[in-house]
Amino acid sequence: MDIHNPKMSSSSPHVLMFPLPAQGDLSPMLKLAEILCLANLKVTFINSTHNHQCLTRHSDIETRFSRYPEFEFKVIPDGLPDDHPRTGGGWLLELLQGLKSNVEPFLRERLLPESRSTHKSPVTCLIADALLRFAFDVANEAEVPVIEFRAMGACAIWAFFCIPKLIEAGEVPFKDEEMDELVHNVPGMTTFLRRRDLPSICRVKDASIPDIQFAVKIQKTWKAQYLILNTFEDLEGPILSLIQEHCPRIYTVGPLHAYLKYRLGLTETTLSTSLWEEDRSCISWLDQKPDKSVVYVSFGSLASITKDQLVEFWAGLVQSKKYFLWVVRPNMIVGSDPNSPTPNELLEGTKERGLVVGWAPQEEVLSHQAIGGFLTHSGWNSIIESIVAGVPMLCWPAFADQQVNSRCVSEVWRIGLDMKDKCDRTTVEKMVRDLMDAKREELERPMAKLSNLAKKSITEGGSSYCNIDRLVEDIKLMST
Ligand code: UDP
Repeated sequence: MDIHNPKMSSSSPHVLMFPLPAQGDLSPMLKLAEILCLANLKVTFINSTHNHQCLTRHSDIETRFSRYPEFEFKVIPDGLPDDHPRTGGGWLLELLQGLKSNVEPFLRERLLPESRSTHKSPVTCLIADALLRFAFDVANEAEVPVIEFRAMGACAIWAFFCIPKLIEAGEVPFKDEEMDELVHNVPGMTTFLRRRDLPSICRVKDASIPDIQFAVKIQKTWKAQYLILNTFEDLEGPILSLIQEHCPRIYTVGPLHAYLKYRLGLTETTLSTSLWEEDRSCISWLDQKPDKSVVYVSFGSLASITKDQLVEFWAGLVQSKKYFLWVVRPNMIVGSDPNSPTPNELLEGTKERGLVVGWAPQEEVLSHQAIGGFLTHSGWNSIIESIVAGVPMLCWPAFADQQVNSRCVSEVWRIGLDMKDKCDRTTVEKMVRDLMDAKREELERPMAKLSNLAKKSITEGGSSYCNIDRLVEDIKLMST
């Protein structure tokens, strides 16, 4: 394929990066930005004002990037009110609208030919999250090459891609009693994917509601030339081949956090990109615990739980008699009963067994020898980080791609258990015991294998390592 761009007058490569302003998208994109800087590419990174303030307050990001003279943050408001919670599900359309109003003028100024030529080092390529269609429209109008970035796994992307077909075939929407039926219209996944495991937007009563229509529109018009994924070939090879029929050039470059550490020669330190302050007291707490004795519990940066669910999780964890380290973000609990106990009140009397923190240094926690299992919402970054650390998972998916991910964890890769749609205390207790005792060996074997493959993929000669080289070369070619 010829990726030389005849419309570009030869100029040095300059990548404009535009993530979705949420922790799970921002973190891998920042890691990719640093990787491109290490390859001596010029990078401008669009960061929302809110996230930029949080990042600079809670991480050393500014100092770290100050080492790269060709790197620059472009800080632009996300269009949401200052006091918007920016958490939970259901605010994506509002966020995209806000971003479009605020970021589009900057994109036009940087990308369209009449203003591009006034810049000393014009942008030669845009890397943006797949949901930011307005950014792709501007780049296409300007004939600037676009590379899509998706912070999801290939299996989930494929399930999303098949949604229009699922609706046409009458498999979506579905009734509650059909939840456990296998799905026929997601090729490559028909032996294990149930309706319950489809992306959460498929759980609608009516296919005409705006959220699912938005997904249908995106999937129907999806025609990426270039796609970057934070996954690796040994993990999702068969599904990647199916996606390849629709997108000729896929760069599987993950696990990005492990690659970056490898490239920088770091073994212990993690490179924080946290939007919340990391409570490091949990590391000294873990230091006191026996090997593989602690369950790490985290539902990521967006998922919320009700107070009732919180109490059930707590009771199940306590009844399991395992140590647990639990991340409860300040804005994570929803629900109206003001008399329900807070996490710390619940912990009174079980302080020895459990520790609650507002935000943890997750990569470091997962690689601590005291951690024996991860109770996770199955966000893609969490899964990839758990694989690198070799920690088996217990999945309790909340929304979006997480339903698909948790099914793959339990039924395809067999590196964890799926507790989808249940969190009563009896189930939590049983599943935690299975994770930590009864099924531990059964899960640890495939996990160790996959963990090694993940590490192999990012070291010299590995698939992701080579794909990053290929990506850098292609970006250079795009500017000639
Ligand atoms: N994370 C963290 N500390 C926490 C909880 C989460 O650093 O206490 C990080 C985690 O390492 C991951 C990201 O937040 O990189 C969450 O991304 P994921 O895709 O798992 O879930 P999302 O937040 O997008 O739902």
